[in-house]
Amino acid sequence: MSATIIDGKAFAARVRSQVAEHVQRLKDEHGLTPGLAVVLVGEDPASEVYVRSKGKQTVEVGMHSYEHKLPADTTEADLLALIHKLNADPAVHGILVQLPLPGHLNSDLVINAIDPAKDVDGFHISNVGLLGTGQKSMVPCTPLGCLMMLRDHHGSLSGLNAVVVGRSNIVGKPMAQLLLGDSCTVTIAHSRTRDLAGVCRGADILVAAVGRPEMITGDMIKPGATVIDVGINRIERDGKKRLVGDVDFASAAQVAGAITPVPGGVGPMTIACLLANTLTAACRANGLAEPQGLTA
Ligand code: NAP
Repeated sequence: MSATIIDGKAFAARVRSQVAEHVQRLKDEHGLTPGLAVVLVGEDPASEVYVRSKGKQTVEVGMHSYEHKLPADTTEADLLALIHKLNADPAVHGILVQLPLPGHLNSDLVINAIDPAKDVDGFHISNVGLLGTGQKSMVPCTPLGCLMMLRDHHGSLSGLNAVVVGRSNIVGKPMAQLLLGDSCTVTIAHSRTRDLAGVCRGADILVAAVGRPEMITGDMIKPGATVIDVGINRIERDGKKRLVGDVDFASAAQVAGAITPVPGGVGPMTIACLLANTLTAACRANGLAEPQGLTA
């Protein structure tokens, strides 16, 4: 193996400690404690694990965590009423509605009801538009985490060829916008892309956000490229349950210059960036200086 491993777990720990330090300063100097409200509708086991983990890490960095667990049959009107209440609550600086929502609820409507200034997931159409036009916005957590790791590894990204495989609203598209914002030459590939392997081989930076286990193999990677694997896929191999990415780590690590592992790469950065976004939102809401290096 020749690639440098980009250690997302260690990086996320550094981000959390920067957030915690800044939170302490806000408390000491301004009597301000950032607060994050997480709304979970229904009992999806994976979502419950995520929400628990978010709540625990929020408290660990010194912020207030407000958890709202609603039954699966909650009406849209009741959910919207809760969001309006959280929008109006000055103790709440960030609001996250855990997705996916049960099928009878319109996710777009719900997300767009969140005050954009409190939209720490960065999914509100206003934030999408602000990011797309290069203005200050709340940036989606997973791509923000990827950007932080890329900046840390490369210094400047200017002029590099970046290929993002995947065009989802939560990862692929915002990732491409962020890379464009850092002056990469960006290609977005997807399921209809012709000669995906050839497109990927042109990338100095390759971001895989596909949701297909180990689809990107070493022969699709330019020697020395930086590979960011966003995928989280649960598979069973040799009778054992395993977590793998969208990149075939074994073959990719032979060719890449640097690579994020799964687990321990992008995953831990996502919640760290959620905390960073909540801190940023609290600073903006109070007209205070934003923390350096914790947003795009
Ligand atoms: P998604 O909404 O399902 O989007 C997948 C994208 O991959 C689509 O744009 C799709 O193209 C493209 N695609 C599918 N098959 C392809 C193929 N054979 N060749 C090229 N492109 C293909 O998934 P997502 O929400 O972006 O998530 C992607 C992965 O990231 C998943 O494994 C997910 O679990 C993981 N994830 C991780 C985190 C984290 O914190 N680490 C956060 C979010 C997501 P079309 O648009 O043409 O269908």
